Amino acid sequence: SGLPAAQVRRTFLDFFRDQHQHLLVPSAPVRPRGDPSLLFVNAGMNQFKPVLLGTVDPRSQMALWRRVANSQRCVRAGGKHNDLEDVGRDGTHHTFFEMLGSWSFGDYFKEEACRMAWSLLTEHYGIPADRLYVSYFGGDAGSGLSADRETRDIWLHLGVPASRVLPFGLKDNFWEMGDTGPCGPCTEIHYDHVGGRNAAALVNAGGAEVVEIWNLVFIQYNREADHSLRLLPQFSVDTGMGLERLVGVLQGKRSNYDTDLFTPLLDAIHQRSRVGPYGGRMGAAPDAQVDRAYRVVADHIRTLAVCIADGVHPGMSGSELVLRRILRRAVRFCAEVLQAPPGSLASLVPAVAQTLGDAYPELFREADRIADIINENEGHFLSSLQRGSRLIQRTCLRTGSGPFPAAVAWSLHRDLGFPLDLVDLMLEERGIQVDRQELDRLVSHDQKMRAEQQADSQPRLLLDVLSLAALQRAGVPHTDDGLKYRYHLE
Ligand code: ATP
Ligand code: MG
Ligand code: MG
Ligand code: MG
Repeated sequence: SGLPAAQVRRTFLDFFRDQHQHLLVPSAPVRPRGDPSLLFVNAGMNQFKPVLLGTVDPRSQMALWRRVANSQRCVRAGGKHNDLEDVGRDGTHHTFFEMLGSWSFGDYFKEEACRMAWSLLTEHYGIPADRLYVSYFGGDAGSGLSADRETRDIWLHLGVPASRVLPFGLKDNFWEMGDTGPCGPCTEIHYDHVGGRNAAALVNAGGAEVVEIWNLVFIQYNREADHSLRLLPQFSVDTGMGLERLVGVLQGKRSNYDTDLFTPLLDAIHQRSRVGPYGGRMGAAPDAQVDRAYRVVADHIRTLAVCIADGVHPGMSGSELVLRRILRRAVRFCAEVLQAPPGSLASLVPAVAQTLGDAYPELFREADRIADIINENEGHFLSSLQRGSRLIQRTCLRTGSGPFPAAVAWSLHRDLGFPLDLVDLMLEERGIQVDRQELDRLVSHDQKMRAEQQADSQPRLLLDVLSLAALQRAGVPHTDDGLKYRYHLE
């Protein structure tokens, strides 16, 4: 019931293009281009960073843009915005999601931005105004930032009752892209799913009753490398609304997994799974674990498909290592909790394309390649997974309800390639915890060893070069490639 997701997306884009003269631009790939401060694209504004900072090449097309809108594919699984740990535990945080965004680059500012957002939600989508709450930046004495009273007044003027206009601090209402980058005070729109009397107290409280749906950021500063704020020469508006959450609101669902963006995917999982169907249970009760596995697998397969389509493959460093962790978590939940046969994960790719293909036709084109890469990586991990699970079982029999030995957790990671956060999840299911202090010690010891090894390898290279020179001087026949020569001798 309710507006289908594809129409929700379309309505947003049409509104900004037809009613407010915004240019529609394509989503950037999730791999950030030329921005080492990011692992993945985490917000629609990433690709516009040079425009916001005023460093855009004046000859580029972007330099002409004043108003744009789009739907941007985002991944929040690392860096400042990391939601990986929340996935499966709630119905509103995904590792991959679509952000519906609108921008004014030095054109209109706060008042028009609020007015447009309010009009779209209440008039075009028809959301009852009395279910909406707005928040604004209440100031922060420590950093000398004052409250954004201007925005508060704008909302009051638009007819929002004072009891539903709420101030919050830096954490919720001062948006920053990462450790550095464009930032500023923001105002956010929240939806009350219940219609309760105490809803104001539930804004930004982390529950499912009241969810944040739209963030309107007033970009005024750049966060510099020394953590200071530099005032920008021109002010901009940068808004982002989670498509999945908005669809949840419009389809009357508190959990995004109950919307048409996910239900075909959950059905496809059920066809391959020996447990289920998906029942929507949340929380830590044993019977909620199957439902959580459904959510994790549905979330992770979307992320895997989109990332691989955009050229990020599971690998050994940076964003690729994050994707490898996501893949291994998905493989584990598929095989062990959902009891689905090998190959199941990759076989879900067409269902992902079916739910997202409207916006990302490349998912259809690339479906076979994506499935191959997932299968190949699943194969690498499956035998280790079995050995690791048996190791966990045996160890738990030995230690009972006491803490899980750090050395075993470390060996699961180092020798069998288990992501440490997956080990945590598997132990949590058994109601036990790892000896955290000892594990932290092992991790930092390992980091130190690696750093030393790396330092060691430099003199060795120097030695190779020196011995090559010696060979040359002595007139010994050799190849140009010193390293090749050494391997040849060995
Ligand atoms: P939250 O407080 O719920 O974690 P946020 O404040 O971190 O959200 P913003 O950075 O303000 O989110 O992003 C803008 C919008 O993108 C949010 O209002 C929300 O609708 C959506 N969004 C953010 N994170 C996620 C996520 N992990 N999954 C789905 N949608 C998200
Ligand atoms: Mg967040
Ligand atoms: Mg928030
Ligand atoms: Mg926010």
